[in-house]
Amino acid sequence: TDLRRAIARNEFRTYYQPIVSISDGRICGFEVLVRWQHPERGILLPGEFSHVAVEMGAIIQIDRWVAEEACRQLRAWQNAYRHTPPLNVSVNISGTQFMQPDLVTRIDHILRSTGLYGRSLTIEVTESVLMENAQYAAEMLDQLRALDIGISIDDFGTGYSSLAYLRRFKIDTLKIDYSFVSRMLADEESSEIVRTITTLAGNLGKQTVAEGVETRSQFEALQKFNVDRVQGIFISPPVPPEEAEALLESTSSTDNHLKKILDDRMHPETN
Ligand code: C2E
Ligand code: MG
Ligand code: MG
Repeated sequence: TDLRRAIARNEFRTYYQPIVSISDGRICGFEVLVRWQHPERGILLPGEFSHVAVEMGAIIQIDRWVAEEACRQLRAWQNAYRHTPPLNVSVNISGTQFMQPDLVTRIDHILRSTGLYGRSLTIEVTESVLMENAQYAAEMLDQLRALDIGISIDDFGTGYSSLAYLRRFKIDTLKIDYSFVSRMLADEESSEIVRTITTLAGNLGKQTVAEGVETRSQFEALQKFNVDRVQGIFISPPVPPEEAEALLESTSSTDNHLKKILDDRMHPETN
């Protein structure tokens, strides 16, 4: 009942988490993450409501709204903040949404109505979603790629990993799962897994994003492994649009965005 009301009353919010290039510290774009602004319980994370949303089928409506809102927001930021290449937005697509026959038409419509180029949009799907219906998934990814949209495999290494699909599916990016990143300094195996994923991606001409980067030591270890991009609370937690925009504003006069973000955090009084 709560969730139905939430949809009717537009209680969902989009939060944005920056994704930064590890080599030059530039903000490449954002991942959009949904939040529910519950009238009594405050901000709820997807983990607290997405299973109900999936069961109800409401996840489709939520995902559509998030995608449209994120594309509109990114187009506005691209206009206000010139980045080369232009800022990109990553949108999570649930299994249910991915299996909708009109997915590509809808995304195409969103791109046209918001004026965002396909190459500025990245779709995040998990391995299991692709593997559950591999033939269909391959066709979907072909169609998305025809619109120039990027494809990223979320939580890479935790699902049903058949290495053959890396060749079969048109994938641009592997997102190294938080579980490996969080353990990589404490445990040699996790560290080797991160190194292996990065090497594999490099050899196949794919990009890597490490998610859940929380500390400088993790960041430096990922730098040594030549991971391409990083995302995590070491840089910034997911933040509401006003805060993401403030981040773009404060970094607009410098090339090394990450350095500026970290400097500002160390000397907040000079802001
Ligand atoms: P995900 O796509 O793997 O997103 C990354 C999750 O890691 C996010 O959790 C993010 O807040 C969290 N995170 C970011 N930095 C750090 C860090 O440094 N340390 C740790 N421990 N965690 C960090 P969140 O926002 O709770 O989202 C959870 C999952 O819910 C997402 O995992 C994604 O699968 C799903 N999700 C989020 N938004 C949407 C949406 O709009 N549609 C769909 N279908 N799924 C969504
Ligand atoms: Mg994701
Ligand atoms: Mg993930």
